[in-house]
Amino acid sequence: MKILIKNIKELLQVRENTIAKVSGAEMAILPKIDNAFLIIENNMIADFGTMIDCPDTAFDQVIDAAGKTVLPTWVDSHTHIVYAGNREQEFVDRINGLSYEEIANRGGGILNSAKKLNATSEEEIYNQSKVRLEEVMQQGTGAVEIKSGYGLTVEGELKMLRVIKKLAENYPIKIKATFLGAHAFPVEYKENHSAYIDLIINEMLPKIAEEKLADYIDAFLETGYFSVEETERIMEAGKQFGLTAKIHVNQFTAINGIAACVKHEALSVDHLEIVTDEDIEILKGSKTMPVALPSCSYFISIPYTPARKMIAAGLPLALATDFNPGTTPSGNMNFVVATACIKMKMTPEEAINAATINGAYAIGISETHGSITKGKSASMIITKPLTSYYQLPYAFGSNLIDQVIIEGKLI
Ligand SMILES: [Zn+2]
Repeated sequence: MKILIKNIKELLQVRENTIAKVSGAEMAILPKIDNAFLIIENNMIADFGTMIDCPDTAFDQVIDAAGKTVLPTWVDSHTHIVYAGNREQEFVDRINGLSYEEIANRGGGILNSAKKLNATSEEEIYNQSKVRLEEVMQQGTGAVEIKSGYGLTVEGELKMLRVIKKLAENYPIKIKATFLGAHAFPVEYKENHSAYIDLIINEMLPKIAEEKLADYIDAFLETGYFSVEETERIMEAGKQFGLTAKIHVNQFTAINGIAACVKHEALSVDHLEIVTDEDIEILKGSKTMPVALPSCSYFISIPYTPARKMIAAGLPLALATDFNPGTTPSGNMNFVVATACIKMKMTPEEAINAATINGAYAIGISETHGSITKGKSASMIITKPLTSYYQLPYAFGSNLIDQVIIEGKLI
């Protein structure tokens, strides 16, 4: 199957060579070609350039993108798409004045989702989750990370990871799986943290490794959840099973968690609503990608990740949704990009880099995703006619996507 996309008004994020990520001032540069063509062959990007050089050969399909922008599909490096039921009652409770902590103390929050997940069959969880996956694909996401973490039991965690595996098998979207057994302490382990961590390390991890169900390991490193020392135990154990760390950290408090993550060579540190000068110093020169989740800040009214300060310090930054039933019931990366511009003062160029190439780095797929580069996966968004790509974050409430191609297939 050979597809030609011709007359592209703006072809964005064009990189001649594979780069892993962009940092600091580089984030302001979004290479593009005006009046471009692009050829897809064998589900990969075979060629692209200006229309003057467009080859005059036969194609199986020709798409005329006159007036339209083409860019790589979004890479959403942090989601909890697999869950059972929802938490819309807590949403209304919060409107009526209850805090996140008060809701958690009443048996709400993560433990509420865990209760629902453990009471739901694998098939039903799959059916509920695939609806969300299909929705984000239509919204332009071509690669996604999905976490476990609503099981909090051996069976529950395995069930979630098997659902993620099945989604990866049945859909063209690239999926990476992360084991998040350390999302919260189940009630029966509230006073005995080490026993639950033993369960994670001695019971869950070996089974997950045996069935090859996860690529990464995660923990909720936060006051009242997993301490720095407890998270270090989990990162070390994960490493022994070949799972690199990607950690929830600095959402509500800064307790030197980032230093521990960098020490253990975490691939990413995610949330970062609260970031100290020391945290920024530690991240400089590390291989760890900071990941901001602005939809979460928006939904539960907490501070936004200080993007300007971090980029000024030379750091890279990735953007992801945190799609989950409690704090971010949305997987819309277009909204994330717009919110990063509107609330975090990122430029459109920085936000698009953060949501494509840097997102790809945060799940270890920069070699195949995140830019328009020959040999990379043919995963791209074709927009509706736009005056310029600035319209993507500017017209934040409009659906500006015309077509989505994932791994060479029209969605
Ligand atoms: Zn999360």
